[in-house]
Amino acid sequence: MCELLVGLPDVNVLGLDDVPGGPLRVHVELRASTVGCPQCGVVAHVKDRYQVELVDLPAFGRWTRLVWHKRRWRCPDADCPKGSWSEQDSRLAASRQALSDRAARWATRQVGESASSVNKVADELGCDWHTVNDAVIAYGTALVDDDPERYGLVRALGLDETLFVREGEYHRQRFSTSIVDVERGQLLDVVPGRSGVEPTAWLNAQGPEFLAHVAYGTLDLSGPYRAVFDKTLPYATQVADPFHVVKLANQKLDECRRRVQTEVFGHRGRKLDPLYRARRLLTMADERLVDKGREKLLGLLAAGDPKGEVMTAWHAKEVVRSIYDLDNEIVALQFVERLGHDLQDESSPPEVRSLGRTLLRWKHHIVAWHEAHFTNARSETMNNLIKRTKRAAFGFRSFRNYRVRALLYAGKPNWDLLATVIPR
Ligand SMILES: [Zn+2]
Repeated sequence: MCELLVGLPDVNVLGLDDVPGGPLRVHVELRASTVGCPQCGVVAHVKDRYQVELVDLPAFGRWTRLVWHKRRWRCPDADCPKGSWSEQDSRLAASRQALSDRAARWATRQVGESASSVNKVADELGCDWHTVNDAVIAYGTALVDDDPERYGLVRALGLDETLFVREGEYHRQRFSTSIVDVERGQLLDVVPGRSGVEPTAWLNAQGPEFLAHVAYGTLDLSGPYRAVFDKTLPYATQVADPFHVVKLANQKLDECRRRVQTEVFGHRGRKLDPLYRARRLLTMADERLVDKGREKLLGLLAAGDPKGEVMTAWHAKEVVRSIYDLDNEIVALQFVERLGHDLQDESSPPEVRSLGRTLLRWKHHIVAWHEAHFTNARSETMNNLIKRTKRAAFGFRSFRNYRVRALLYAGKPNWDLLATVIPR
């Protein structure tokens, strides 16, 4: 009955340890069988036994440990170089893992698919963060990297700069580049750095069929990714990512607000300063401002923006957003050209003039979005990923951890394969 409950194949249950307040300890051994020496084939002898404690799934509301009484085998042939070795059974636990195999697969699903934190899963199993994380990375790596069908050919491919960790005492920033199927909203991979080197290598490794299929390359408004597409995807149409275009307008608005704040009040924004209080209302989409919010915003601007500069930057941001309401590329090009020139009017604050220059410089990339007519599924997936990553950033000790966790979350792995992957 006990073996039925424990539910592991070819295992004898030796007994239970039940120390009040502690985890339930289930002692098991593998059923005896004849084992040959892997080197010379002679029937091996049992040298000795030792115990390995594995963190298992909770049972009956209790933390549970599997205490595996492992045999150490010995080759009886004195001339054989094999010596002794321990028995392994991947159905109980993968080698070097402190979690049982079934607990490790469960933990991978909790963290990767259900977006539980490693800490929460560790609490449920009654073990520490590293034990769970090691398992999630080992099984997760296999799930995302050993499935050649996780992604196929891609029509619209985007490169995205992502901050993945702030390291050490000074919170030094570390960046990575996300490679995204922007049409399906699937994270294909993450490579270190934000230069063009790693994305170029990744693209070339995908092979000519993959490269030939990419019709659109979306990018932020900066040089390195443009160079990647120029080099590796010379026939793809380059598209400025709408998310980044609007983000730039918001950045310029923010710069303008901070400059006016300092000029008018002589110090950086403080809690009671009207412009500081307006900062969230300013970057909010206009249609999301309820009437009261808009009234409040106008009041705060009247009090803190005597020359109307922040107001101009706010309008500029809203007009930039409206580029994406247009559905015709010819109209859109005329619109962006006129907007770019208007924003550079000498009455405009310097931040707005700079925005205008950038819009003109990238006008064909911006309007390419109107031509492309692919649905941009990127935004939601990637924004969620970025938010989640920022929240968890301090927990990511290494790039490998970050990459696997991001791919489990946003890379659309085939979770049906989890039961069969072999951990790395
Ligand atoms: Zn041998």
